[in-house]
Amino acid sequence: MKPARFEYVRPARLDEAVRLVAGAPDETAVIAGGQSLLPILALRLTRVGCLVDVSRLDELARCDASARHVTIGAATTHAAIEDGLAPDPGQGVMRRIAARIAYRAVRNQGTIGGSVALADPAADWPAGLIALRATAIIAGPQGGRREPVAGLVRGTYMTSLTPGEIIVGFEVPVLADGARVGISKVVKKTGAFAMSLAIVVLGDGGARVALAGAGGRVLSLAGVGEVLTTWPDASGERLEAALAEDLVGEIDVADAYAARLHRATVMQAVAEARAR
Ligand SMILES: Cc1cc2nc3c(=O)[nH]c(=O)nc-3n(C[C@H](O)[C@H](O)[C@H](O)COP(=O)(O)OP(=O)(O)OC[C@H]3O[C@@H](n4cnc5c(N)ncnc54)[C@H](O)[C@@H]3O)c2cc1C
Repeated sequence: MKPARFEYVRPARLDEAVRLVAGAPDETAVIAGGQSLLPILALRLTRVGCLVDVSRLDELARCDASARHVTIGAATTHAAIEDGLAPDPGQGVMRRIAARIAYRAVRNQGTIGGSVALADPAADWPAGLIALRATAIIAGPQGGRREPVAGLVRGTYMTSLTPGEIIVGFEVPVLADGARVGISKVVKKTGAFAMSLAIVVLGDGGARVALAGAGGRVLSLAGVGEVLTTWPDASGERLEAALAEDLVGEIDVADAYAARLHRATVMQAVAEARAR
């Protein structure tokens, strides 16, 4: 199918883009890489009067690094990050996350900002940026604001973004010396979203574990993180017991396959982090 007719504008400045979207929030939509929005429009699951293309705005292309954090512009493509064209907070983690997304054709167009704004619960960047404690930098009709990605992403295709707000970029804290990151992702076939994706950060002022693909939102596995913070060499049994607790109420407990799958990705990500 083809999408219904829409207008297309590519403003030269961020404030103009904000003004256009905020002025007619029901009629306009921001478009970046178009990898998710265009299929939705083509299937006529939604209609829009005007697409406001933010993919070439200078403000959304800006990437830089300081001693404390790296900043990645929202319009940075997965491919650019995979190719090392964006700064890394440590452990090559940004490249490692980007390289696992879909296949190269999607990575060439899809952007980190579009991925977070879409808030697919099985997507890679929301989980990765939550595990890395990233903060989103947002422009809007009321001015700028910042919000941790963990708060911005609310649920399946739900964020805290209000009409007219545009994600400008992400600030990712540099990992502590000696911090290690493990990533494990299981997909049905190349190019598919994760059935389970675990991202484990060890030794970064404690341990953190994010899990995607397990229900309607990215899970921060507080119990597993606490065990790994207190006992970095905790046994598999201890970690599995903490994971089982973390998943209560989050996945269908009768679904033994899902429970085994998430256990496998979490344990594999822990093992990878420990081995680095
Ligand atoms: C075949 C296929 C396989 C895929 N597999 C994976 C996968 O394995 N893992 C994964 O994580 N992703 C996957 N994706 C998603 C893809 O990687 C993109 O990240 C995703 O489509 C959104 O990025 P985009 O730049 O294309 O956003 P768009 O499609 O342009 O926009 C998506 C949504 O975000 C909004 N938006 C975009 N940019 C901004 C911004 N800066 N501020 C505010 N709102 C904004 C749009 O209005 C729209 O609602 C897949 C996509 C396809 C087509």
